[in-house]
Amino acid sequence: MTQTASCLCGAIRYRTTHVLGPVTACHCTQCRKSSGNFAAATPAPWDSIEIEGEVTWYASSETGRRGFCGTCGSYLFWEEGDGIAYLMAGAFDGPTGLRMDAHIFYADRSDFFRATDGLPCFAAGRGGPQVTP
Ligand SMILES: [Zn+2]
Ligand SMILES: [Zn+2]
Repeated sequence: MTQTASCLCGAIRYRTTHVLGPVTACHCTQCRKSSGNFAAATPAPWDSIEIEGEVTWYASSETGRRGFCGTCGSYLFWEEGDGIAYLMAGAFDGPTGLRMDAHIFYADRSDFFRATDGLPCFAAGRGGPQVTP
């Protein structure tokens, strides 16, 4: 199956042939600020992804960078140079058939947000200590 995606203005379109796993909600400060609340992302190897259009990159940390559309600002990718792209799932053309399975960096979330979906809420990374939403 091929999943297609685009930014809001359509200047960037991409497709991946990777079989996508669940979507993770990341509430870390960087995702919170760049997304408007939290990032909903799922990983895929870069070599499964074909992009049309020019992605603008922002080095958000010493190892990570965020890819977005320079025209409409849509946040599309996060990566750490290990060959894996984290795809911002809201850009996917639906229906996706995907499900969200966890909240991570929940300790850094916006104070106006509270998870009510019953999914595990990890204080930091997946697999670490869980907190009550
Ligand atoms: Zn755009
Ligand atoms: Zn994050």
